[in-house]
Parts: sequence; C-alpha cells; structure tokens
Amino acid sequence: MGAEIGAVVLAAGQGKRMDAGIAKQFMELKGKPLICHALEAFEKSPVDSIILVTGSESIDYCKNEIVRAYGFSKVTNVVPGGKERYDSVYEGLKAFRSGAVPDYVLIHDGARPLISGTVIKRVIEAVKQHPACVAGMPVKDTIKISNADGFASGTPERRHLWQIQTPQAFRFDLILNAYERMMRLQEEKERITDDAMVVETMTPCLVKLVEGDYRNIKVTTPEDLLIAEAFLSYGELPQHFWQDGKTVSKRRILKN
Ligand code: C5P
Repeated sequence: MGAEIGAVVLAAGQGKRMDAGIAKQFMELKGKPLICHALEAFEKSPVDSIILVTGSESIDYCKNEIVRAYGFSKVTNVVPGGKERYDSVYEGLKAFRSGAVPDYVLIHDGARPLISGTVIKRVIEAVKQHPACVAGMPVKDTIKISNADGFASGTPERRHLWQIQTPQAFRFDLILNAYERMMRLQEEKERITDDAMVVETMTPCLVKLVEGDYRNIKVTTPEDLLIAEAFLSYGELPQHFWQDGKTVSKRRILKN
C-alpha cells in the first residue's frame, strides 16, 4: 500500500484586505465560489483525504453549498478554524489526529485558486524525499529591507530569494509536533507567517524549496480577482515557462 496523503485546505479568516463584505474564499470566481477551484484541484490529485477549515459560522454553508453541492468526496471533515492562520492550520492537523492519520500532509491556502495538479504532484513527490517542502518561485523584483524610518537598509542578493506559496508539504508527525511546540510559545507564534517557518524555528529539519508556479497567486486584494479570472480564462500553458532554474522561452498561440 502507498503512503497516505492528507491535505488541509484553509478557508477561515475574514480577508479584510478584500473589503467586500463577504469572505474572499466564498466570492464568485468564474461562476463558482473561489474555494471550489482549489478543492477541485485537490479532489483530482493523488491526495486521499481533505480537511476543510473554515469559520465556525460557515461550517454548514461549506458542508451543504460547497462539499455536497460540488461533490467533493475526498473532504472527510469540515472544522472550525481560529483567529490567526496558524490557529486554523493547527485545528486542521488535529482533525486528522482524531481520525485516520496520514503519512504526509499538504497545507494549502484556499485563497490560491490557481493551484495546478502538476504543482500538487511535484510537492507530493518532493515530500517523499524531504520531510518538509514548500512550493515557491524565484522573485522577479529587487527586494529591499526597510529601516524603521522608511529608508532602504539593505538589498539581499536576488538570486537567493524565493517568494513562497502553498501547498507546503510535511511528514505528518513532524509538522504536528512542531505546531504543538509552537502553540505553547506566544512570542514565536506572533512571528509565524507560513508553516515552513514552524518547522524552521521548532525543529532542526531543513525545508526544501520546490518549483511552484507564478500563476499560483493568493487572492488578497480586489485586483487579484481580475488576475485570477484572467489566468483561469487563459487555460493551461503548454509548457513550463520556468524550469530547473532557467527561463524556458515558449510562446503560447492564442486560439481566439
Ligand atoms: O489572510 P491570508 O490571505 O494570509 O490567508 C491565507 C489563507 O489562510 C486563506 O486561505 C485564509 O482563508 C486562511 N486563513 C485561515 N484562518 C485564519 C486566517 C486565514 O484559514 N484565521
């Protein structure tokens, strides 16, 4: 029997930067609630079971209007999240503990609707080799560090900088233990912005960077919805534009 692979898909939080009066994960994108796009990608992937984490007020909506209505058969549980993203991840991980515990778990922001089956599979293959892996891409812009007065205090070398995405994939026992330790430390918690940081700060394990996709954006502000819609309309690119650390020059022929 192969390894059991679980996924925690996050759809809690208010998405205040969207300022839409409706949580961004449930806004319509290409004719369906935004969260459905990520769930579809995971449903079609080699992942065996999915925990959907949402706000306690949205549990019934998710069960009836998302999971049942769209037939997401791999979603085994819909659980309430917490105040911060890390609280929601922890609730998702604990939901596995009370049921069947997977060997590996992928943690994904439901607000990233452009996640592809290719990236999910790549992250799964990587986590079988390295116990902690994150999808990401090399940054395109120059990044500066600002000091407290708003002046540039440094420019890190761009070739070492990656922008981090989700899914982030881990051996299940590693990430659960790391989260359990971190949740007891208030100061550490406040610094956490992604799951890999929990492993980096709480364990000696090195985190492997895995090629993601520049289209795998997180929908955060209103213009991101337009970009996501454009990517979804455009369809699959025939080849990766970026491979093995090099840009591969390939042009797509537009049909219409
Ligand atoms: O707010 P942000 O864009 O960083 O959220 C990233 C992802 O984390 C989103 O999919 C959001 O639904 C989820 N989240 C959560 N619980 C929170 C805050 C955010 O599940 N308390």
